[in-house]
Amino acid sequence: MIIVFCLGIESTAHTFSCSVVNEGGILSDVRSVYKASEGKGIHPREAAIHHADNSKKVLDTALNDARISIKDIDVIAYSKGPGLGPCLRVGAVIARALAVYYNKPLVPVNHAVAHLELGMMLTRANDPLALLISGGHCMILALSNNRWRVFGETLDITLGQLLDQFGREAGFASPCGAIIEELAERSHNYYTLPYSIKGNDVSYSGLLTAAKKALKSNRLEDICYSLQETAFSMLTEAVERALAFTEKRELLVVGGVAANKRLAYLLEQVCKLHDAKLFVVPTKFAGDCGAQIAWTGLLEYHAGISIKVEDATVIQSWRLDTVDIIWNRQTLLH
Ligand code: AMP
Ligand code: MG
Repeated sequence: MIIVFCLGIESTAHTFSCSVVNEGGILSDVRSVYKASEGKGIHPREAAIHHADNSKKVLDTALNDARISIKDIDVIAYSKGPGLGPCLRVGAVIARALAVYYNKPLVPVNHAVAHLELGMMLTRANDPLALLISGGHCMILALSNNRWRVFGETLDITLGQLLDQFGREAGFASPCGAIIEELAERSHNYYTLPYSIKGNDVSYSGLLTAAKKALKSNRLEDICYSLQETAFSMLTEAVERALAFTEKRELLVVGGVAANKRLAYLLEQVCKLHDAKLFVVPTKFAGDCGAQIAWTGLLEYHAGISIKVEDATVIQSWRLDTVDIIWNRQTLLH
């Protein structure tokens, strides 16, 4: 097989990142993360300005780290969606400009699909039930007939949003998942919070309201612990049902919240009960990164997917279960 070098550009939300990959794996992955001020969420236009301001440095470093010149890149992949419009447009504009100036093929990538593809590449999970838990997603999925099918999801906010919105109320700057995990480890006092699971779906908004209210009269550590135990148990219950239903023998966890050790422990217990193997994406690649886009772009390119520059648009709400998965990852994994 000829070696193809793919540059991936990620800019869906807080992270601007560039990465170079080839069939042998990840050659570089460089990121710059927009930080909102304490107690605030992402401001889309401010994040977009951050991405534009940092794009040259990130791109140059990614190419340097991979010891490659832009002229020797074969394909340019960018995240077309889902994400925040102003942020997505920065990545798309850079991808289009590079593709036109250096005459390179362009490949559009669905960001959520890319979390899953990179997770499978790094863990070698082959046919998993997948849990995608990030700022933008909270879904239980499995591949069937060339599409990721949804076996459970949140009915309102995502698990990442739950943690971040609660954390912001407590005065931290987003993203707050890691600090909540650290505080939760210091407590074993469970304060009862609403546990809401409907069929295979979870609902987190009532839990968020109650946890915010409980903050006023309880120790922060106790509420962090109770919030994690409640939210993670709900999700674990939904995952267990999906495992029993699909009879998958692998569970893959991807997305920023996959970094959480307590959640991984709970999922491990359920996997043991159902004779399934747990694969958790390495923490370094759990959150948004260029490598997910570059790797998926490479898979797509090998399947013959590329678009004209004038078609390189963005789609803010591009559901992953509408994407045809027509590439063959097995030929690239060895
Ligand atoms: P992503 O959108 O994939 O970049 O994921 C970002 C989300 O991951 C944010 O909501 C973070 O709060 C969350 N996150 C990051 N680290 C952890 C952690 N250790 N535990 C729980 N959530 C985390
Ligand atoms: Mg993401």
